[in-house]
Amino acid sequence: MLDAKAPKALRGMYIDGQWRKAARSFADLNPNDGSLWAEAPDGSRADATAAIEAAHRAFPDWAGLKYTERAKLVHHIAEVFERRAPDFIAAIQTEGGGWYGKGAFEAHYVPEVFRSAAASCYQNSGEILPSEYGKLSTAQRVPMGVISVISPWNFPGILTARGFAFALAAGNTIVLKPSEDTPYLGGLFYAEVLEEAGIPAGVFNVITCSREAVSEMGDEMVEHPYVKGVSFTGSTPVGRSIAAKAGAHLKKCCVELGGKDSLIVLDDADLERASQAANFGSFMHQGQICMSVEKVLVQEGIYDEFLQKFVERAARLKVGNTSDKANVIGPLINDRQVARVKAQLDDALAKGAEIALGGKIEGRFVDPTILTGVTPDMLIYQDETFGPVVPVIPFKTDEDAIALNNDTEYGLSAGVFSRDEARALDIGRRLETGMCHVNCSSVNDEPHVPFGGSKASGLGRHGGRWSIETFTETRWITVDRGGRPYPPVF
Ligand code: NAD
Repeated sequence: MLDAKAPKALRGMYIDGQWRKAARSFADLNPNDGSLWAEAPDGSRADATAAIEAAHRAFPDWAGLKYTERAKLVHHIAEVFERRAPDFIAAIQTEGGGWYGKGAFEAHYVPEVFRSAAASCYQNSGEILPSEYGKLSTAQRVPMGVISVISPWNFPGILTARGFAFALAAGNTIVLKPSEDTPYLGGLFYAEVLEEAGIPAGVFNVITCSREAVSEMGDEMVEHPYVKGVSFTGSTPVGRSIAAKAGAHLKKCCVELGGKDSLIVLDDADLERASQAANFGSFMHQGQICMSVEKVLVQEGIYDEFLQKFVERAARLKVGNTSDKANVIGPLINDRQVARVKAQLDDALAKGAEIALGGKIEGRFVDPTILTGVTPDMLIYQDETFGPVVPVIPFKTDEDAIALNNDTEYGLSAGVFSRDEARALDIGRRLETGMCHVNCSSVNDEPHVPFGGSKASGLGRHGGRWSIETFTETRWITVDRGGRPYPPVF
């Protein structure tokens, strides 16, 4: 159990290799008990401008560095992060309101993102094209310049690293703004790590601000002419407006947004594995994962048996303050999230849904809750919940499962359980999602895979060479060797 401590002293924002105080600060709370975790810098539009200008100045040297040197530095970030893992995990348990095991998982994963990004420096960065006139005709990937990165609070380690690691390795410079709910974990912690790793001044900058100041800072991060690309991970409404602004300025933008993912359990599924995947997918980090299982769709013949197994497993999850390692289910991140989950639960119960497990909400703590009798007229059927409340919905045929999965504006990920891989793959092919996992939960990620959603779940892909595609510009560069004829009149 972690000891309660005085608020953490933060050094300021990190701009041009310097720690800078902001004129104001805002309260960064521990969601477990609402105590003040730190006073975070409440930056302004002018701070964003300063960070963007610093990143712009740093770009030519960073982009011009030998790729081997860039790879070495990015690799070193992984090593420093690994050494700082205990600090990161402790902050996950407090600032982030996450279970110890969740912190340990992020701390293990993040260095892999940087190693994978460092390795991308050794990959081909273009193609040789045929040329009718024997030219040397090349398509070359070049870094773009300053990339703005806006990250969320739910997996502040992984989702922030993923947002900038490959862009940085490709030779871009970065201005990062973490969520106001995790300004340390998603931002200032990274500034400490990258400073220690020896990333040159101005190449990586972190600015923070309160929710009240975010639209002003966010606008600057998209509109400033030095910014060439935007990497956003967060909710669909905010992502939509960022993408619209980026579009108006003709800037490249990758937005990873919300989801309403299904786990489809077919009548020939391994029910132990399926119920474990449902339990993990629905309740890991209190359901606050973009790819959380938000609907469990179960074929009629096995519905009762599956529900019983799922309820038994979920009933064993311990709820409580995450400073105690034994508590797997912690608080929701803020009162806004609790209000959203409560509104969906109340609405479902008022319209006839029934509680198979849980239902208790105490402060920010919501017990793992399983609902039956959920119908399409209920908020919880359509809207992203982002909390530990999940409906189990029966279906008759494979066609019905596909239709139920696709009956949402979102399209992030999905899971399909069946002992018949061909049957599961055939269903997976017809799901309108960016990702699908057979015999696994919808919650899956690895640093080098094409991660992203379709429909209202986002635009663009993160991970490996897909991140490189996202954060570089492709140029056509040729060399003529005297072979191209011109019309004789010239
Ligand atoms: P959010 O959209 O409220 O905030 C995300 C980020 O955007 C934060 O840094 C926030 O400060 C910033 N922001 C808010 N308003 C802004 C504005 N006007 N201009 C610029 N920036 C602004 O989302 P959240 O509550 O932090 O995260 C939860 C949401 O994120 C969920 O919907 C979840 O599904 C989604 N999410 C998606 C993925 C993915 O990879 N698809 C991953 C994690 C979370």
